[in-house]
Amino acid sequence: MSGPTTASLPSSRIKRRGLMLVLSSPSGAGKSTIARNLLETDTQLSLSVSVTTRPKRASEIEGVHYEFLSAREFERMRANDELLEWAEVHGNFYGTPREAAERAMAEGRDMLFDIDWQGALQLQEKMTADVVSIFILPPSMAELRARLNRRAEDAEDVIERRLKNARLEIEHWREYDYCVVNDDLGRAFSACQAIVQSERLRRDRRPGLFEFVSDLLNET
Ligand code: 5GP
Repeated sequence: MSGPTTASLPSSRIKRRGLMLVLSSPSGAGKSTIARNLLETDTQLSLSVSVTTRPKRASEIEGVHYEFLSAREFERMRANDELLEWAEVHGNFYGTPREAAERAMAEGRDMLFDIDWQGALQLQEKMTADVVSIFILPPSMAELRARLNRRAEDAEDVIERRLKNARLEIEHWREYDYCVVNDDLGRAFSACQAIVQSERLRRDRRPGLFEFVSDLLNET
């Protein structure tokens, strides 16, 4: 045990476990923007960089958005149990590297996981106490369609496929701790911030409280 143990310890330094913040949503519901805003404004939060067999998009940076792997490399990691969870999404494979996530949890650092419902379910099963999951919902299917139309140069059939997939993803809403309707980006972002702040204060996530309160009560 290291560091000061007096009751004057700043509350933010009371030892606690890291939390695994899982964000899921159908594509177009605003998850990427909310995730980006959280990462930019919250220095305690870092992104779990997934591995994927999906080809890199022009806007993406290797090692920042994903580690881009061949199918063979992905299969090697999966077979070696180097993935905490993995799933096939839209015909490509995605997975969460185990080592970085487990290290962050052990060191009390918080991580954000931008993963789909299949990955969320696997993390919830394996790391029950550490996972906090948020599902971002669009305000309506009409608005989701409008956002997909606005955002992409995608052909009509691609948009139809995304909407169909969105319905399948939304059907899993009950498996999440929190659901945030993104009818206003600022409000949805604030709601996610509030969830993170509250979850960090949970008693069962803060073993350091025991020592803190003991010192508090022993203070003369
Ligand atoms: P995209 O290809 O658009 O970046 O991501 C497609 C979907 O795969 C998104 O819903 C994203 O959250 C999900 N995804 C990204 N990385 C992972 C991962 O490591 N595991 C799982 N299960 N899903 C992921």
